Amino acid sequence: MMNTAVIAFGSNLENPIAQVQNALAAVAALPQIGSLKTSSLYRSAPVGYAEQPDFINAVAVVETSYAALELLQQLQQIEQRFGRQRSFRNAPRTLDLDIIDYAQTASNAPELQLPHPRAHERSFVMLPLAEIAPDYPIAHFGTAQQLAAKLGNAGIEKLPNPFSGCLKAQ
Ligand code: ADP
Ligand code: MG
Repeated sequence: MMNTAVIAFGSNLENPIAQVQNALAAVAALPQIGSLKTSSLYRSAPVGYAEQPDFINAVAVVETSYAALELLQQLQQIEQRFGRQRSFRNAPRTLDLDIIDYAQTASNAPELQLPHPRAHERSFVMLPLAEIAPDYPIAHFGTAQQLAAKLGNAGIEKLPNPFSGCLKAQ
C-alpha cells in the first residue's frame, strides 16, 4: 500500500547545498520509497536563533510503503549518517529531515506530530512545496500555494538548481 508523504530538508553546516542534495538522493534510494519529486533548493535566513549561517532547504513529495513511524525512523537514520548532533532546538545542524504530511493523517504523538505543527507558518517549507505541488492541502490551513502566497518570500531565495525534478522514476 503506497501513501503520499511530504518531507522537508534543511541544513546550515558543512556545505549545506551538498548536504541537502545528498540527503535527497539518500531518501530516493530508500527501498520503500517508490517515487520522489523534489523542489529546487532555497536559501533562507535562520529562525529562532539568529546567530548562525543561512539554511539551505528543499521539499520532496514521495510515494512510500513505509508506515509513518517507519518513515520517521528511516529519516532519523539518514540524519545520523550525515553527522547530525542534537544540541538545542533551532540549533545549527548538518541535516534536519521533517515529515510535513503523511497521507493527510493527523497525529499528536510527541515523536510524530502530523501535519508538522509549524510547517504552515514556514515559508521555507511552503514555497518549495508550492513549487512542486501547489494544490497540496495542509490540514485546515489551506493549500501549499495559498500558504506560500500568504507567507511571502521575505528572507528566502530560490537557487538555480540543476538537480530539481525526479530522482526516481514515477
Ligand atoms: P526540530 O526539527 O524541531 O528542530 P528535531 O529535528 O531535533 O527538532 O526533532 C525533535 C523531535 O521531533 C524528534 O525526536 C521527532 O520524534 C519529533 N517530531 C515530531 N513530529 C515530527 C515530524 N512531523 N517530523 C519529524 N520529527 C518530528
Ligand atoms: Mg527535525
